[in-house]
Amino acid sequence: MTANIIDGKKIAQGIRDKLKAAAAELTVKPGLAVVLVGADPASRTYVHSKEKACQEIGFYSEVHRLPETVSEAELLALVSKLNKDSRIHGVLVQLPLPAHIRTDKIILAIDPAKDVDCFHPLNTGALFSGLTSGILPCTPAGCLELIKSTGLALSGKKAAVVGRSNIVGKPAALLLLHHDCTVTLCHSRTADLAAELQQADIVIAAAGRAGLITGAMLKPGAVVIDVGTNRVNGRLTGDVDFASAVQTAGFITPVPGGVGPLTIAMLMQNTLNVCRQKL
Ligand code: NAD
Repeated sequence: MTANIIDGKKIAQGIRDKLKAAAAELTVKPGLAVVLVGADPASRTYVHSKEKACQEIGFYSEVHRLPETVSEAELLALVSKLNKDSRIHGVLVQLPLPAHIRTDKIILAIDPAKDVDCFHPLNTGALFSGLTSGILPCTPAGCLELIKSTGLALSGKKAAVVGRSNIVGKPAALLLLHHDCTVTLCHSRTADLAAELQQADIVIAAAGRAGLITGAMLKPGAVVIDVGTNRVNGRLTGDVDFASAVQTAGFITPVPGGVGPLTIAMLMQNTLNVCRQKL
């Protein structure tokens, strides 16, 4: 038996349709400002997708493209300006930033009420405490939507998250915990990854290692969410070896067309939530 493929594009489109209808009801357009530093091709693609999503659902959007050589002070000044701009409900600085700019300093400078990426410690702290600020971490929240789309009841399920970054792994583990899963957080020093995964009803793979997880490592019937976005010979591929995993999993996301579209939909959801709170 082969796994059901979770169609991230379709699920994200459904969310965007709802957001479009919700935005049309508001007296003010939700506004998103995206700041792109430098010319990293992947970052440019992500920023373009965010801009396109805003246009499609009727949000106001601004993209600020700054040269690689921009100083930290100049970037901080732009963030401060956007923080004060009443048309802007969400401020997002696309990562990674050049080495001469302190990423932490930029994240701390974003108004937590406009931090639609959910990177500011006030928002990650709220997540840690199980408080709802209206802003959720985009990629982990997208993973949750994909898991829920399978109809699986999360409470009491064993979940394994592979990767412990602040952006994906850790917040994904917290969200699963808040949904009453028993969560194992795996990382590069995990002694026996396969042994951890074989127990898991749900796997979120976010290691950035192409083909790290094979079908033989999975529990039969598991829900497998592949966050990994790796370029191999010019092709986008996940952390999960799709060909073998599809034989073992119950549900699986493809790369591309799985988590990526949900990340953007969740960003839009956060922006709408901030706008609603302002109103
Ligand atoms: P990161 O490099 O910050 O973190 C990777 C994590 O994986 C680390 O915690 C590390 O301990 C763990 N890891 C590395 N090798 C491992 C191994 N062999 N076994 C177990 N764990 C291992 O990366 P990140 O920012 O969390 O992103 C992870 C992946 O997800 C990347 O491929 C990235 O491009 C992708 N990503 C996709 C989206 C999306 O929307 N689709 C969003 C964010 C990140």
